[in-house]
Amino acid sequence: MIPSERHVWHWCPQCRTEMTRRREGSEERPVCPACGVVQYLNPAPAAGIVLLREGRVCLVKRRFAPRQGEWTFPTGFMEWGEDPAETARREALEETGLEVTLTGLYAVESGVLPPDTPVVVIFYTAEETGGNLLAGDDAEEVGFFALDEMPGPIAFAAHRRVLERLHRDQAATAGETP
Ligand SMILES: [Zn+2]
Repeated sequence: MIPSERHVWHWCPQCRTEMTRRREGSEERPVCPACGVVQYLNPAPAAGIVLLREGRVCLVKRRFAPRQGEWTFPTGFMEWGEDPAETARREALEETGLEVTLTGLYAVESGVLPPDTPVVVIFYTAEETGGNLLAGDDAEEVGFFALDEMPGPIAFAAHRRVLERLHRDQAATAGETP
């Protein structure tokens, strides 16, 4: 599936010939009839952290569109050559000022970054190891919030699903008899 014409190359980036379409396996893909370049359209991987302080979850307020002013877990896109765990630690530091160590894989969610970019977000549980809480990079604010007292709308469905899961996990833990 080609998600949107907006993402499709109309001219070959190698030889500047007009691109055509060809079926490659299960997918129709843009191809260059002159030099054979194929455009593979893939979801963009992102990673971030699920960090708790005394039952409160760390969220950041988005400084930029899309969903400017709404809240998410500290997350960001993987850079070329980066491991997703490195991405999660880097984004945590850039957006929250906190140094973290990752303690496990919590969730892998796919979604669509508005308007039409498919993404896969890898969420790790994390613990603080240093730093000072300070919003930075593309975060306008950062804080720790009780799960039943969200600071505002949560920007993306993938993040809302992870929050719902956290809520269930906290409820299950609270319901355990010692
Ligand atoms: Zn070409």
